Amino acid sequence: MNEFLNISLERDSRTPLYMQIRNAIRDMIAEKLLPSGFRLPPERRLAAQLGVNRSTVVKAYEELAAEGLIQSHVGRGTLVNAGEVQGQAAWQSSLPMRWTHLFNRQAARVNDPLISDLLAQLTEGDTINLAAGVPAAELYPTADFARICAEMLDRKPHELLEYSAPQGLIELRTYLAGHMRERGADQGPEGILVTSGSQQGLELIARIMVEPGDTVIVEEPSYPGAMQVLRAAGARLVGVPLDARGIRIDILEQLMHRYRPKLFYTMPTFQNPSGNSMSEEDCRAVLELAYRYHVPVVEDDAYCEIYFGSSRRQSLFAMDVCGAVLYLNTFSKMMFPGLRVGWAAGPVEVIRQMTLLRQLADINTGTLPQAVLAEYCQRGLLVNHLGMIRSQYCKHRDAALQALNDFAPPGMSWNEPEGGFYIWCHLSPGVKGETLLRVCRNTGVGFVPGEAFFTDDNNGNDYIRISYSRCHPAAIRTGVERICASVRKIVKEGSGQTGIKQPAEGLAPLALL
Ligand code: PMP
Repeated sequence: MNEFLNISLERDSRTPLYMQIRNAIRDMIAEKLLPSGFRLPPERRLAAQLGVNRSTVVKAYEELAAEGLIQSHVGRGTLVNAGEVQGQAAWQSSLPMRWTHLFNRQAARVNDPLISDLLAQLTEGDTINLAAGVPAAELYPTADFARICAEMLDRKPHELLEYSAPQGLIELRTYLAGHMRERGADQGPEGILVTSGSQQGLELIARIMVEPGDTVIVEEPSYPGAMQVLRAAGARLVGVPLDARGIRIDILEQLMHRYRPKLFYTMPTFQNPSGNSMSEEDCRAVLELAYRYHVPVVEDDAYCEIYFGSSRRQSLFAMDVCGAVLYLNTFSKMMFPGLRVGWAAGPVEVIRQMTLLRQLADINTGTLPQAVLAEYCQRGLLVNHLGMIRSQYCKHRDAALQALNDFAPPGMSWNEPEGGFYIWCHLSPGVKGETLLRVCRNTGVGFVPGEAFFTDDNNGNDYIRISYSRCHPAAIRTGVERICASVRKIVKEGSGQTGIKQPAEGLAPLALL
């Protein structure tokens, strides 16, 4: 019997190679392309055919054997065990619907569980979570929110439980327009769309702007949630590096000239993950390039309110004089993420198109959360809350920096953010983020390895992102101490000799928000 298997592998997929092989064989068995008794190629031969390590094929075979789909027989090799069930009517023994084969090509590209992985970590018992970029739960304004919610439901028992305008409640958009005006952006409520978190804003922008094959420039490092959305829309991502001085304007210009990109996605204020902000001079240079090359800029401003200095920074959106910037923001970091309220601001024609598209997805952001939020903001509670969280997160940041100063081994370096949730750490030479994470997980601390923030998984593995938002300062100190101790351990023993397992082939990096 012919032992050749027609399997093609996607080497840049985040699905590990062994899983791709396992899935392909499993599918062929389900489709009856490989009948019971079919002899699979020996591991070594299939490995050579596919250009992978033998261990990759061994692992795929082991999993198929565990599922009962194949079986090794001494002297006869590995045989398919399709297991026909006797005595069933034909329709009862039909194959299960194979949904994944029916996904359209765009949807099938989205196979990276990054975000849900990280959310799972949030509930991982005693782990000190320096991975998730979410607010500290004890700072949530729960009591005020609950009180206003009860009052409003009492006052308007039906209205708040109805559908509402897809563009968002006018009360909330009016408040947001005023809020943005205070930061210098002359934006009326008609140029604002309330979204279900800024993730939806990103998705809508990708959907109205990006055609498969378009180039989009992102900072490197950048927010993986945005990179995933852009990729899912078919964009080819090209990274412009951020260095210690900031964004490489010279390279941005070269990239704009060379690729004529569809968009430039940027976080000029307290960037995720670097924590750094663009200088005013660089902001002006970015706008100048955007105008010269006709490249719209998407400004993601999720962290602008979490500043530790005396005043807010100006947004690119407020500096823009040509209507070239689309602006995204969210209540997820300043209040709580489960609210799922964010907003997009921009030229009316863009907001209109985004609104039309969002109607197809979810009609409107929840009427009740919007209404309660609008009332909360109008009563001046948001302003008070922001004052309180700024001083708290500043303490969190200080605890993390102090711990790094106290415990970091030689060769490790980091920035000192003036706002936002993140410290971007360069590891000691020879220490890789993923290896460090494996060691740290055993000590009960999590963070995000740097490679998750790059367009290419091969970059950034000498960095980690430490998020100081979620945990209490004492836990942050302990967590950072453990990370530093693990770095020392790896440096001392050499990662190859620590008994630490190296990352499995194609292992998806830990997720992040
Ligand atoms: N943009 C950035 C830069 C973020 O860090 C996040 C969440 N971590 C988002 C967007 C998405 O936030 P939201 O909860 O509003 O969808």
